[in-house]
Amino acid sequence: MKITYIGHSGFLVELGQTVLLFDYYQGEIPPVSEEKELYVFASHSHGDHFAQEVFALAEGHAKVHYVLSHDIGKRHVPESICDRTVFLEPGLTWEDGPITVETLKSTDEGVAFLVWAEGEVIYHAGDLNYWLWEGETEEWNRKMEEDFKRFIEPLRGKEIDVAFIPLDPRQENHYNLGLDYFLDLTEAKKIYPMHCWEEYSIIDRWLSEHPDSPYRDRIVKICGRGEEFEQEPSKG
Ligand SMILES: [Zn+2]
Repeated sequence: MKITYIGHSGFLVELGQTVLLFDYYQGEIPPVSEEKELYVFASHSHGDHFAQEVFALAEGHAKVHYVLSHDIGKRHVPESICDRTVFLEPGLTWEDGPITVETLKSTDEGVAFLVWAEGEVIYHAGDLNYWLWEGETEEWNRKMEEDFKRFIEPLRGKEIDVAFIPLDPRQENHYNLGLDYFLDLTEAKKIYPMHCWEEYSIIDRWLSEHPDSPYRDRIVKICGRGEEFEQEPSKG
């Protein structure tokens, strides 16, 4: 399995017969073989998670499918592509050919995706995160904590091969809450921090502040756009 970091929350996951593109909004998409099924995911409509440019991929590629969060809406999708587009609400399971997708409700807009493909389990959080902010009221932050823990609960104990999880420096001293909760909740093998606003030193900060964490070697250190990672295929 090859994983390319495209930028922000954008990743390309290449499997034997299937390719998954998540939350592209800018940067370079590596060439995708026309022999492979390409699934393009967008977790919500915000400008840093979705861009119309993804529909250009359908021009040179017959096997493209679009898996969009319900909040994106039909008006954004070119008419010629509507028949290969699905809009997913949170809390459902959708199957198509080689993949199965489960959606979770986000604490921001839209959904998070849990995807089964070719024996791999891949989780992309979108903006489902523990968005605790210093400037918010206690009440707002309490509600956030409640929502986050409730929305992410379906992942409890799940074995996940690849997880894309927000690690956002704008949250200052609360940057690690969502990631730490996720690590304890699930059995995730490799975690790719995202939504870092190009401040990849936030990953080093997490590592230096968690010297004894049993999860340290599961955290992938991303240094910049276009970086590629090879991950051993899952055995189960
Ligand atoms: Zn975002």
